[in-house]
Amino acid sequence: MKFKIGVFAAILMAPNAFAQDSAMFRKISDEVMMHGTCYNNLRVLCKNVGHRLAGSKAAEKAVVWGEKAMKETGCDKVWLQPVNVPYWKRGKEQLSLTTSGGKTIKLNALSLGNSEGTGGKPMSAKVLMVSGFEELASLPDEQIKGKIVYFNYRFRQDFVFTFQGYGDAVKYRWASPSVAAKRGAKGVIIRSMSTGEDDFPHTGSMHYNDSFAKIPEMAIGNYSADSLEKWCKKGTVTATMQSECHLYEDLRPSYNVIGEIKGSQYPDRIITVGGHLDSWDVGEGAHDDGAGCVQSIEVLRTMKALGIRPKYTIRAVLFMNEENGLKGGSAYADSAKSKNEHHVLAIETDAGGFAPRGIGFEMGEYQVEKIKAYRKLFLDYGVYDFEKDEGGADISPLHKNLNVPAAGLLPESQRYFDYHHTNADVFENVNHRELKLGAVALAQLIYLVSEHELF
Ligand SMILES: [Zn+2]
Repeated sequence: MKFKIGVFAAILMAPNAFAQDSAMFRKISDEVMMHGTCYNNLRVLCKNVGHRLAGSKAAEKAVVWGEKAMKETGCDKVWLQPVNVPYWKRGKEQLSLTTSGGKTIKLNALSLGNSEGTGGKPMSAKVLMVSGFEELASLPDEQIKGKIVYFNYRFRQDFVFTFQGYGDAVKYRWASPSVAAKRGAKGVIIRSMSTGEDDFPHTGSMHYNDSFAKIPEMAIGNYSADSLEKWCKKGTVTATMQSECHLYEDLRPSYNVIGEIKGSQYPDRIITVGGHLDSWDVGEGAHDDGAGCVQSIEVLRTMKALGIRPKYTIRAVLFMNEENGLKGGSAYADSAKSKNEHHVLAIETDAGGFAPRGIGFEMGEYQVEKIKAYRKLFLDYGVYDFEKDEGGADISPLHKNLNVPAAGLLPESQRYFDYHHTNADVFENVNHRELKLGAVALAQLIYLVSEHELF
């Protein structure tokens, strides 16, 4: 079946049409590479706004920035879509260790997002190191009770596509406090979800099971994790956690920022492309996901600059609160449902501002084949991988609740988890050509789907 459809689509794509598409692909690329404003937009977002956790003052500033940047594309309409978001505050935090030799060492550590702290007071306990959930499950309660459990689970380096390593390890960040609290532990330290040969701790969202105590959770970078492993093997280690972090119950008002070019032939058919405007409260949220925001804006700017009048309506969306609540993605899907909008495709760019390598798809095989028929056009732009099953978090409510086909831009993944959710995720670590090439691939894909009415 798969083969037959592929052949059929290839026949449909006459040589003349291929030449026209190829010429338009080149125009799109030249426009972004020579005149693109996404890199400068990213500079302004990172340097004038900085990191911007949902519910913070900085996130409000980011909304103002996003609305202005969207208007500068010359698109037909820009609006703010109200979203209520949670607010988590980090406050002061500190982690120190006393080794069996009596040496006290301060570690670089970050509390995990949405976790509760120690109420600002120091909390000390002996450290119990385990390799993972299985080892913890094998131990008797009396060995766990009153301890700070150190989950020394490494991000696997054998996966070449690093998102697989992330998918494998992230359960420790997400679930370990409740797993340990159930057995009587007082706190949790995790090895960061990090590919880095460095000492940056990585934050990120976690979740409590309400049946157990909400114990604090902190992440440490790989070098500190190696040291802690070594000291635990040598003898008894005592850790002291001190943190003020807290998740506020009351939701705060915020917005998704939306820009739109109306379709010339099918204004009711909508293609959404987006990234998330919020970031963690460290670094500058440059790769995650300032890059995706400025690339989505760049798609609209490029279409206007080239005088492309898309047949379908094209929307760029800067989603709020992807990191610790997904309220923006949910609000967007709810609105689409209540207005009975016809979304033909949703594309997310939230995997870093690195050179694009492919596009992932969460849709029917016959729909994937429609895009794959044009695969050859993308090869000159370094985009070749159309085999992965990847969409994106913000568009997942559209995909799951409204059955909208979803796609995700897949950039080179080797460096993403060096920077992800750390103080190193800054503008200087984004390359302007790689960032722009991502915007090129998105604009090319959207042009194809709209021009050939693929969905
Ligand atoms: Zn992200």
